[in-house]
Amino acid sequence: MSVSNRNDDVADLTCLRGVGPALAERLARLNIERPIDLLFLLPQRYEDRTSLTPLGATAAGMRTVVEGDIALTEVVFRGRRTLLVRITDGTGQLTLRFFYFSRAQQNGLKHGAHVRCYGEVRKGPGGLEMIHPEYRIIDQNTKHSLEETLTPIYPTTEGLQQSRLRNLVNQAIDRFLPRVIDWIPQHYISALELPDLKSSILYMHRPPPDADLATLGTGTHACQRRLALEEMLAHHLSLRKIREQNRTRPAITLTGNFGLRERFLAALPFELTGDQRATLDDIDSDLARTHPMMRLVQGDVGCGKTVVAAAAALTAVAEGHQVAIMAPTELLGEQHRDSFAEWLTPLGITVAWLSGGLTRKAREQVYLAISNGDAAVIVGTHALFQEGLDFHSLALVIVDEQHRFGVDQRLSLMEKGRHGASLPHQLVMTATPIPRTLAMTAYADLDTSVIRELPPGRQPIKTVALPEKRRPEIVQRVRDACHAGHRAYWVCPLIEDSDSIESQAAESTHAMLVEALPDLSVGLVHGRMKAAEKERAMQAFTTGRTQILVATTVIEVGVDVPEATLMIIENAERLGLSQLHQLRGRVGRGGNASSCVLLYRPPLSAMATRRIGVLRDTNDGFEVAQHDLELRGPGEVLGTRQTGLMQLRIADLIRDADLAPYAQKIAGQLLATKPAAINALIRRWIGAGSRFGKV
Ligand code: ADP
Ligand code: MG
Repeated sequence: MSVSNRNDDVADLTCLRGVGPALAERLARLNIERPIDLLFLLPQRYEDRTSLTPLGATAAGMRTVVEGDIALTEVVFRGRRTLLVRITDGTGQLTLRFFYFSRAQQNGLKHGAHVRCYGEVRKGPGGLEMIHPEYRIIDQNTKHSLEETLTPIYPTTEGLQQSRLRNLVNQAIDRFLPRVIDWIPQHYISALELPDLKSSILYMHRPPPDADLATLGTGTHACQRRLALEEMLAHHLSLRKIREQNRTRPAITLTGNFGLRERFLAALPFELTGDQRATLDDIDSDLARTHPMMRLVQGDVGCGKTVVAAAAALTAVAEGHQVAIMAPTELLGEQHRDSFAEWLTPLGITVAWLSGGLTRKAREQVYLAISNGDAAVIVGTHALFQEGLDFHSLALVIVDEQHRFGVDQRLSLMEKGRHGASLPHQLVMTATPIPRTLAMTAYADLDTSVIRELPPGRQPIKTVALPEKRRPEIVQRVRDACHAGHRAYWVCPLIEDSDSIESQAAESTHAMLVEALPDLSVGLVHGRMKAAEKERAMQAFTTGRTQILVATTVIEVGVDVPEATLMIIENAERLGLSQLHQLRGRVGRGGNASSCVLLYRPPLSAMATRRIGVLRDTNDGFEVAQHDLELRGPGEVLGTRQTGLMQLRIADLIRDADLAPYAQKIAGQLLATKPAAINALIRRWIGAGSRFGKV
């Protein structure tokens, strides 16, 4: 690798013209820390400023460049102060309208000047107009050429203008693009019919006027795929590297003092399933090694991962060490705290709880119990990452619902539990089954165990889809079920990307049900409630004081109430398959037959119809996940956080899933033949970053 390339990866942003510390800070908000990051900042959309439309040919709705002489400038007061500038070019006329303008602007836009503008043409009170166009006064004697390529519009942040950002990207292209090295062996690129790296980058920032905007808009253009492939490759390599490094680190060897575990299992009212036992065997042999376990347990909702986690925890506790269990939400964390306390307290084990919501005093007490070793099992949320928390002897970290955490969070918790060079073992659980090829990319640092079998006696959930006008029937059905001793969830998912709107929808559904079902108690949980309120609402539902729980998608992971047999999901047409499957998995956890009702607002799109069909036809999470890949339509962002496994800039693991096997193959070849490429690619895409800093 050349020395100049090494420098490019770490070059400071301030080497670009016009970038000082303040601007660098703003750029950091966009995760741009080096000039080469600008190369991988892809535009959100493009504008066509390559041709000039004569004023006579403009029409409402067009976004275009126009040019003309100023025939009239006036400031009018109609409700508010407005600057109107009429321009003409011999073929027609157009008005420019400004609601905000400076004295200098007003003076510059004077009668007789020649102006070029870009904006959207719309119908105004006195004919066609543009509101607040971008404009430039031009001197007609010199030639001002139009743009030759489409104009990129970048995602930006407050205080950073598009034109500024565009200028910086252009500087980065001019100075750094020529030196970017294409590490992917040519035969893969040809096999996939992809363009080379440099042309791909250039095309994305400066596409020709005839570029296929529809393809670019969906992220499936060959140039985007070329970049996505490399990004997936870089992440895959970084995970493989972590895996290798872990193999060289020592861990506390837990050779199996199974007394506690046997007492625990004997006290359970059920036997472990074959898959649960097999998973536990995998875990036992990992724990007996001298390097840290890094194991992922994939198992559909309700397959019983928590019991397996508890049995594994006892192996560490039996030898006097601690176990940390991390949950993605308070709700789920509290539930784990309760299950673990119920199971382990009778064995004389202290279970501690650490959440963000503790009072200072309570937190200090928990910290103390953790640092002096009094607390053997610590259940918590993100609060487990907090500075100042010291474990006495952390031997095992369990992360539940891994898809809600990033790789870096997981690794940093491991680092927290370090004693000298020794790392804690790590057990990661997920109920989002992802197809094998994707798992190999996203979890390349982990060994995998799969629990496919559900505990015996589970009845398949019957799924039906109904138009929302049949809601009153459903209300009656909920009433009948509750009178028969069952419980029901009524979920109001994200309608817009806003917690508060989601909560409002839940509040009004709650009010509707309270009115319609005066003889039943209806509870409510949503994201805007305080932790204690949420807990109270959950508790009431778990114990049966409320029979119906109206909830937002906070309910989606992990919650376990075996008496619940009915799941009603509003706006089901807006949710992705995996998310629907997760929600559905909240019922069917006891011995009773359960149903899931998907309420939708007609007309159903073809895609939504097929999705609902899949859910009707199968209860198997792995099958659902496979269909999810095939059926995911462009622009369906609602389900993507389900697979938010990695922080990706360009690639989308679902959209680009077909590239995953290539990323793995290429990684294999680079590891064997071109070691220099590995660090270079990791640095390019992931940065010098936290991931390797501490290792
Ligand atoms: P998940 O894998 O979704 O986290 P849980 O661990 O919450 O599932 O288990 C779901 C329910 O199944 C719990 O009530 C649990 O006690 C019960 N369960 C777990 N394993 C078994 C088993 N082998 N037989 C019967 N019930 C089981
Ligand atoms: Mg669970």
